[in-house]
Amino acid sequence: MFDKKQFLKEINAKNPHQPEFIQAVEEVVGSLSQFLNDNPKYTDAKILERMCEPDRVVSFRVSWVDDEGKVQVNRGYRVQFNNAIGPYKGGLRFHPSVNLSILKFLGFEQIFKNSLTGLSMGGGKGGSDFDPHGKSDAEVMKFCQAFMSELYKYIGADVDVPAGDIGVGAREIGFMFGQYKRVTGRFEGVLTGKGLGWGGSAIRTEATGYGLIYFVEEMLKQAGEQLKGKEILVSGSGNVAQHAIEKAIAKGAKVLTVSDSDGYIYDNEGINEDKLKFIKELKNVNRGRIHEYAEKFKVQYFEGKKPWGEKADIALPCATENEIFAEDANSLVKNGVKLVAEGANMPSTAEAIEVYREKEILFAPGKASNAGGVAVSGLEMSQNSQRLSMSDDEVDKKLAEIMADIHAKCYKHGLKNGVVDYVDGANIAGFQKVADAMLAQGVI
Ligand code: GLU
Repeated sequence: MFDKKQFLKEINAKNPHQPEFIQAVEEVVGSLSQFLNDNPKYTDAKILERMCEPDRVVSFRVSWVDDEGKVQVNRGYRVQFNNAIGPYKGGLRFHPSVNLSILKFLGFEQIFKNSLTGLSMGGGKGGSDFDPHGKSDAEVMKFCQAFMSELYKYIGADVDVPAGDIGVGAREIGFMFGQYKRVTGRFEGVLTGKGLGWGGSAIRTEATGYGLIYFVEEMLKQAGEQLKGKEILVSGSGNVAQHAIEKAIAKGAKVLTVSDSDGYIYDNEGINEDKLKFIKELKNVNRGRIHEYAEKFKVQYFEGKKPWGEKADIALPCATENEIFAEDANSLVKNGVKLVAEGANMPSTAEAIEVYREKEILFAPGKASNAGGVAVSGLEMSQNSQRLSMSDDEVDKKLAEIMADIHAKCYKHGLKNGVVDYVDGANIAGFQKVADAMLAQGVI
């Protein structure tokens, strides 16, 4: 018998001051209780207890010298959570909010997400409290080199394969790959998200956002609806948001909002291709703020606010964790939103998910709906192993298939009394594959 209360008591006691990690575990445990009771082989082998304890956590000092010649000190981490079904795999986040709780929640989620893709990838995550905002390219390079000078000892193409996340894009991956190559002397698929000319995969940049829209299409199809003509609220304006918008407008939907940590814009006419180009330039090249969109296109800007109070059919939170609280979820429901799919990791709080369940909102958790990014990372790893590359069309087709397959798994495991609970479906399906591998591999 699985004792949920006792299990959570122990998790809380063992992980004080790690609220995000505990939140991620509680969500999974909520979905798995019944399944574990029905399948005592997992409880007997303490699979969930073992899964909640990372294989190891590495933490290290990153010292570097800024443009003024001052010494800077940051903290770097890699959480290697679980490698039952493949090498550790997950992004690196560079953001001042990074701490062990955040990286453990992200690494834990990654186990289930990577399992859902059907590819051979374990779960891991890493990063640093370094803030790339306002730093020169030279400073970012020096930081990345210092970070990799320590991290290289713990990673490798068959060991642990990091990628990007918030604050880590093509520029940072390039600098880190260069340093890995310099210190090890090896050109290997140790990082994903690489440039197209040196081992990167087609569609990797677009994959999380495109995959999110493919997943939403599957949800809508299941409900007898289509994306064309739907009004969408998007939060965030980084890589995931940009490519979700790109694919949504290509499919005939209307995207009304985008945001950054300062506020959001509301574009009554919908963001079109030209305006999206402006957002990409603004965020990827000029590293500016979203209020500049409002000034340029004469639309409303709401400082310090999130877009969840606007009328729409669909909400796609693509910024960061815990950006939708219960009152935001209630306001989404009041404003006609019928579907929420997460482009970010854990943007909905547990209380918000409660609201979606009560009000029967179709809700896809990030570990299912944003798995497209890591899925194409998995394809990048395969291409690196073969020293071959796939075309845009091949990767895009494979991505759409993987997202449809994840949807089917969530549906199969999450269907209860005619209603699909995508949270339960994703957790049960993601868990089972990893749990079976752990059972087969013995007590380690
Ligand atoms: N950071 C992304 C995620 O949250 C991608 C990870 C990867 O490609 O390894 O899934």
